[in-house]
Amino acid sequence: MTALTNLLDLDPAQLIAYCGELGEKPFRAKQLQRWIHQFGAGDFESMTDLAKSLREKLATRAHIASPAIISDHTSTDGTRKWLLDVGQGNAVETVFIPEENRGTLCISTQAGCAVNCRFCSTGKQGFNRNLTVGEIIGQLWMAEFELRKTKGIAPGPKGERQITNVVMMGMGEPLLNFEPTVTALRLMLDDNAYGLSRRRVTLSTSGVVPMIDKLSKECPVALAVSLHASNDALRDGLIPLNKKYPLQELLDACKRYLDYAPRDFITFEYCMLDGVNDTDQHARELVALVKDVPCKFNLIPFNPFPESGLKRSHNPRIKAFAQILMDAGLVTTIRKTRGDDIDAACGQLAGEVQDRTRVQERMQKMAEYQKKFGENFGKIVEITQ
Ligand code: SAH
Ligand code: SF4
Repeated sequence: MTALTNLLDLDPAQLIAYCGELGEKPFRAKQLQRWIHQFGAGDFESMTDLAKSLREKLATRAHIASPAIISDHTSTDGTRKWLLDVGQGNAVETVFIPEENRGTLCISTQAGCAVNCRFCSTGKQGFNRNLTVGEIIGQLWMAEFELRKTKGIAPGPKGERQITNVVMMGMGEPLLNFEPTVTALRLMLDDNAYGLSRRRVTLSTSGVVPMIDKLSKECPVALAVSLHASNDALRDGLIPLNKKYPLQELLDACKRYLDYAPRDFITFEYCMLDGVNDTDQHARELVALVKDVPCKFNLIPFNPFPESGLKRSHNPRIKAFAQILMDAGLVTTIRKTRGDDIDAACGQLAGEVQDRTRVQERMQKMAEYQKKFGENFGKIVEITQ
């Protein structure tokens, strides 16, 4: 028996082609797409405006499957976090952050990450594999309809939308899993699926310069860049990828991106690490560094984890740092730490359930993946169990 096609893997054009193979007209694909992404249908039986013969045909050849939920926790502040099984003892996480006028979903694009940033627990777990389109868009599909179910909101295009914004800030480097990420982005933007505006979808990258250019041509969405340092020497030690794409190249790519971007600024993320990158001098250096890039800063208090050997900057230090940026005319926000009681920060919970006996294997895969991209990521840190 041939494997079932997961319809979550298909972008709008592919779904039309798939329906074509079944002898169906393109408008059937649109109907099917709406059933899946706007009504949250998980089976074909419920798709009442499709002919019974088509529903039966689909049931024997296709399915609609997002990764299985391992756990589902809601924090006292409303933040909800799902841990999803992506096979072979690997898990990824998806986090929903409700705010007054919007609901933001933070999604993952890889199981693990090959970039191996010094302050990131995802990187410390090694790299397992790229997520598929279905696993990426499946996080949005699952979360939107789980949230509606909890609130008793009817599915459908007119049902009250729970997720208004998506950020690719979970596990993984989206630009090192380019094609599936872009296909998932297209579905997020498609009017017959989620219909999100480009301004409300943000991709966060550690700075894969050629892929930033590629994204600007193929699917420009709002861009966040993880800067975290005010000079190359410091950034080399925090983000090994900086040795391949140093700051000036990265900032030039940001400027080029702005010609295509849906917003007229780049968001720079800056993780506040006590005594590492958080002095007044660093702040002043940063102001000079970004002087010709229209941007906003988002200061992220470091989320500590034991193996990092790093500490979060103290709140007064973060405020003083922010003040220097603001005095220089840079719009600056300090990220609120949300969902602390459920460990809703990048990579934390998944790390706990990861099958630790396979760490060695994931480290090997990390090395292979780095090589495949031809990057000189710097020395790979050996992780002991
Ligand atoms: N790989 C992409 C997107 C995922 S990480 C990137 O690096 O941009 C999302 C954001 O979380 C990044 O800005 C990253 O630097 C930050 N981050 C990672 N680990 C963190 C930690 N322990 N504490 C605070 N921020 C962290
Ligand atoms: Fe990967 Fe981003 Fe974590 Fe760096 S911060 S290891 S790029 S997920």
